[in-house]
Amino acid sequence: EYSLYRHLEASAERAPARIAIDYYGRPISYGGLHRAVLNLAGYLQQCLGVRCGDRVLLLMQNCPQFIIAYYAILRANAVVVAINPMSTVDETAYYLGDCGARVAIVTQDMLAKVRPRLDDGSLTGCIVGAYSDMTYPEGNPDFLQIPDFVAEAGQPPLSDREHEFGNAVAAALAPSPIVVTGSDLAVIAYTSGTTGKPKGAMLSHRALALATAQRSLWLDDKAPSSDLLVLPMCHIAGMSGMNQAIFQGRSIVLLARWDAGAVPALIERFRVGRLGGVAPMLIELLARPEFARHDLSSLKRLYVGATPTPVSIAKELEARLGRVPIECYGMTETCGSTHINPPMDARCGCAGIPQIDVDARIIDPENLTELDCNESGEIVINCPTQFIGYWNKPEATREAFVEIDGKPFVRTGDIGHHDEDGYFHITDRLKRMINASGLKIWPSEVEACLVAHPLVQEACVLAAYDEYRGETAKALIVPVPDAEGTISAEIIIEWARTHLAAYKVPRLIEFVGSLPRTLSGKVLWRALQNEQNENDR
Ligand code: ATP
Ligand code: MG
Repeated sequence: EYSLYRHLEASAERAPARIAIDYYGRPISYGGLHRAVLNLAGYLQQCLGVRCGDRVLLLMQNCPQFIIAYYAILRANAVVVAINPMSTVDETAYYLGDCGARVAIVTQDMLAKVRPRLDDGSLTGCIVGAYSDMTYPEGNPDFLQIPDFVAEAGQPPLSDREHEFGNAVAAALAPSPIVVTGSDLAVIAYTSGTTGKPKGAMLSHRALALATAQRSLWLDDKAPSSDLLVLPMCHIAGMSGMNQAIFQGRSIVLLARWDAGAVPALIERFRVGRLGGVAPMLIELLARPEFARHDLSSLKRLYVGATPTPVSIAKELEARLGRVPIECYGMTETCGSTHINPPMDARCGCAGIPQIDVDARIIDPENLTELDCNESGEIVINCPTQFIGYWNKPEATREAFVEIDGKPFVRTGDIGHHDEDGYFHITDRLKRMINASGLKIWPSEVEACLVAHPLVQEACVLAAYDEYRGETAKALIVPVPDAEGTISAEIIIEWARTHLAAYKVPRLIEFVGSLPRTLSGKVLWRALQNEQNENDR
């Protein structure tokens, strides 16, 4: 029998009084967190009938209840399905229908998204947390006190299928023994949905535990410090951050959402040693005056991933922090990062080297033969942290793997190469290639060139219909504030001409106010491309 929950149990036994979570100045100890988890697990089993292997939906922003619920679901031998809190009622219905969860745990602000499913009987029960109202008595973080649920004005009171989180945690019902093993399903993690509808990646207890242990090797800090956790925990990147901190028994400074103005002061106050982010956050952080005002010397590890980090940003951070941000590369299907820049030899603008036990190769995406060093092709990965398959999607699961040397490799759909030193470089996604009369244009390369222009804040390059070439590059550009009047399509095209081969230069330029992004910070290019295709028809 083995459960990822054991990591929390071990940390709570080692140091019950240590602060596990600090949420806007409200602390909770490891002992308190562990007790809450056990109580909620018992409540899920005894009052909501949750059985081994049942999926339980988790819908909330980053808050302490998320961490309590996550480990309680695992402790109850059930499967966590954490979804994006920005989901609409319809999207929530998609996830619920897809994973078949009968029970949900939500915060008050999310209740309206699941109520229709409680009314039609597809959900049999729901636990409701009092979002942002959670308090701990001053000076006694061992004792967990959650205020009574207060129905919001205009909202119906809780029905008999809806249970208060506070009551569930106070009920002190003991859970039945752990019966799951390492190979059992622990989490269904949905992908970001950059290339289509999000897919539910099935992750086992063992895969998540190994991913956690492996990544914890990279933080060697003698001085006491904490982890600042702001990436959404429903996505694999934030979830990994949570699991690592719990495994190592570190204190989590938890934020509901990114707040570039507040982060520098938090780093100083809590001596934050580790922070995971995505490039748009770092860009914002660098622009804040607070960044220069606080002592950030404790920040030993600044992890970035999910999208390429512009080299100019990495260099500026290095100059101002004295440390290169550590870029990682990975996907939901591999429980997060498979590649990381070793802190002692971190390089800017590349995905790093494969982590322990990761077999990463480059293949020709057409004939599936292996390619050599410096040859560009699709990255495929075999590792102990890889997923079991997509929930409910046998066809997509078959397409996701390729067998090489008798081992199943995950097809990442990413194009890249590795150099002589073994560092991997990501070019773009296979599906994004623009075919201009047979010449390949990778949008990421063009975007990197465009954002290097001082008047450009963000850029997204799409394939547009072209009479002669079939396809050509079109750029959507978000100018920097105050660029109005100075920026023009001619300036941008001239800039691209001096930096790129002629066929890569965007022939069409459109200025926009902003670009839509996924929760994990990626531009939703698929949606923009679909719009473009509609217009081109
Ligand atoms: P979907 O699979 O639903 O289309 P997604 O692939 O964006 O969405 P995730 O699993 O969150 O969902 O993201 C994994 C992808 O993120 C990788 O396949 C890769 O394209 C991209 N990625 C991650 N890290 C990096 C990095 N350091 N540089 C470039 N791309 C990265
Ligand atoms: Mg993907």
